[in-house]
Amino acid sequence: MTDYRPSKRIIVTGAGSGIGRASAMAFARQGDTIGLLGRTEDELRKVAEEVEQLGGTAEILVADVSDAKAMSSAIRQFSERDGLHVMVVNAGINGVWAPIADLKPDEWDKTIAVNLRGSYLSIHFAVPYLRKSAKSAIVVISSINGTRTFTSAGASAYAATKAAQVALVKQLAVELAGDRIRINAVCPGAIETSIENNTTRRDTESVEVPVEFPDGDIPLTGGKSGKASEVASVVAFLASDAARHVTGSVIFVDGAQSLIR
Ligand code: NAD
Repeated sequence: MTDYRPSKRIIVTGAGSGIGRASAMAFARQGDTIGLLGRTEDELRKVAEEVEQLGGTAEILVADVSDAKAMSSAIRQFSERDGLHVMVVNAGINGVWAPIADLKPDEWDKTIAVNLRGSYLSIHFAVPYLRKSAKSAIVVISSINGTRTFTSAGASAYAATKAAQVALVKQLAVELAGDRIRINAVCPGAIETSIENNTTRRDTESVEVPVEFPDGDIPLTGGKSGKASEVASVVAFLASDAARHVTGSVIFVDGAQSLIR
């Protein structure tokens, strides 16, 4: 049990599926108001219905996280009148995984735009509102890729964004402390979501280093992937007042997967 205050106003980016959707569900169970931010209204409408069924309140915010104008307007729309307490920076893509000499500049740019520029824009436009709220928090969804593991062949752009998100979190933990805004990162291991649908692999075998993992490469589950809800409960903890002295921290949610690679 956390001493989470039930009336918080929270934006979750990439709320239409996977970890973002599960985070919205976790907040909904606490009676919060959640701004569901994503690219397609249809997907978000379904999540909004689920949020309302669980006792939360949902607002649909259609925006591409890499589009400054759209992000500014979506975050203002949600926050201007009744404020913002928590920003969950979750939207992300695997993008194209390919050998570095073959990875095209626009493929590189796309992954950086969604994962890193998207993180910057989410935080940049949220901070003026978070500053006005007491006990506000930012939670960034990074990954074990680029922080502890480097074994996803061809994932150089993805790994670079995930490492950069952790650097951003640590840098901003210091900068935003004076405003009493906490910021932390969550690094999931393999989690069952639809992220594989947004992954293009091209000739990654050529840069794969053969590594023999022990039976079941996720020790805690004997190889079974984690669930989005298992990441969401950590997101909810970091957003809550139970984590009031936690900032600039990185929590791995991976069943020890990253420790044996
Ligand atoms: P997912 O594909 O189910 O969810 C990602 C969501 O982000 C989708 O709803 C998608 O529509 C949205 N999105 C993508 N690009 C967007 C954009 N430009 N603007 C707005 N929304 C956009 O995948 P997920 O696994 O839930 O991924 C969520 C986060 O978790 C990502 O940052 C990912 O890197 C991270 N992560 C996932 C895993 C995993 O194994 N699934 C592991 C480590 C980290």
